[in-house]
Amino acid sequence: MSIDREALLKGNRRALAKAITLTESKLDSHRQEAQQLLESLLPHTGNSIRIGITGVPGVGKSTFIEAFGLDPSSPITGGSILGDKTRMEVLSQQNNAFIRPSPSGGALGGVAQKTRESMLLCEAAGYDVILVETVGVGQSEYEVASMVDFFLVLMLPNAGDELQGIKKGILELADAIVINKADGAARAMADQARQHYNNALAILHHNHFWQPRVMLCSSLENKNIDGIWNMVGDYRQRALDAGVFHPKRARQNQEWMWRLVHELIDRRLHRDPDARAVCDAMQNKVNAGQTTPYIAAHRIVESLRNI
Ligand code: GDP
Repeated sequence: MSIDREALLKGNRRALAKAITLTESKLDSHRQEAQQLLESLLPHTGNSIRIGITGVPGVGKSTFIEAFGLDPSSPITGGSILGDKTRMEVLSQQNNAFIRPSPSGGALGGVAQKTRESMLLCEAAGYDVILVETVGVGQSEYEVASMVDFFLVLMLPNAGDELQGIKKGILELADAIVINKADGAARAMADQARQHYNNALAILHHNHFWQPRVMLCSSLENKNIDGIWNMVGDYRQRALDAGVFHPKRARQNQEWMWRLVHELIDRRLHRDPDARAVCDAMQNKVNAGQTTPYIAAHRIVESLRNI
C-alpha cells in the first residue's frame, strides 16, 4: 500500500484515511509499513489537545460532540474524532472535521493501539483537536483516559440513577464532569447533581495544578458549550505552566510501552509451541505439588530465551 506521506502532512484527507487503513490492516507487511510511517511522522505529531469523552449510551455524547465541534468559541482549525460511533451528522459534513470509527480489536494492544496510531496520524495531518469517544465498555474508559490530555465524563442530571450506572473509579479519572441535558424541567435536578458530584470529587486525591470541575450544559440548546471550551483551554494552560503537560504524555507512552511488552510476552508464551509445552508442564507440576510457583515462573520465562 503506498501512502502519500507529503500529502498526509499537508492535511490531505484521502492520504490520512489510507494511512489509518494501513495501520488497521492485519497483514504483517502492512503493519511493518505502518510502523515505519508512524515513526517517520513522530516529529510532526503532538501539536494538539487530546480530549477523551465518555458516558453511558443516551447521555448525549453524539449531540455533545456535534455541539462542541461546531461551537464558534472552539479553537479548532481542524478537529478529528475517533470513537465508537459516528452520528455527528452536521459535523461530519464540515471540511475541517475528520471522523473515524474505531476498528475492532484483536491485534497487539487492541483498539487502544489503533486509536493511538490514528491519533498520531491525525496530528501529523495537522488536526489540532482530537476527540476520543468511548461508551465505556469493559476497560475502555481507562484506556482512553490514559491516551488523552483531558478526560471528560458526561453525566445525566439525575444523580441518583446515574450513580448506580457509573463504574467505580471513573470519577477518579475525570478532569471534568459535565452534566448534559441541563435544560427544561431537568435544570433543577442538574443543579442538585452538580452539588452531589462536587462533594464526591472533593474527597478524591487531586494533583496540584487542577481541581476537577463539574459543569452543566445543554448540548441540544447549545448552552455553556463555550464554557466547556474555556475550561479545556484553562486546563491546558495550567498544565503547561506547571510543566506537566508534556511529561504526562511521555509517561503515558512509557506505560503503554510496558503494557505492550507484557502483552507480547504473554502472546509468545501462548503461541510458540515450545514455550507452550513448558507452560503446560510447569502448570502440571505446580498442580501436582512437584514444584513451587516461583521455580515454575522462572522456567517459563527462561523458555522465551530460545524463541
Ligand atoms: P449518546 O448515545 O450518548 O451518543 O447520546 P445521543 O447524543 O444520541 O443523545 C441521546 C438522546 O438525548 C437524543 O434523543 C438527544 O436528542 C437527547 N439529548 C442529547 N443532548 C441533550 C440535551 O442537552 N438536552 C436534552 N433535553 N436532550 C438531549
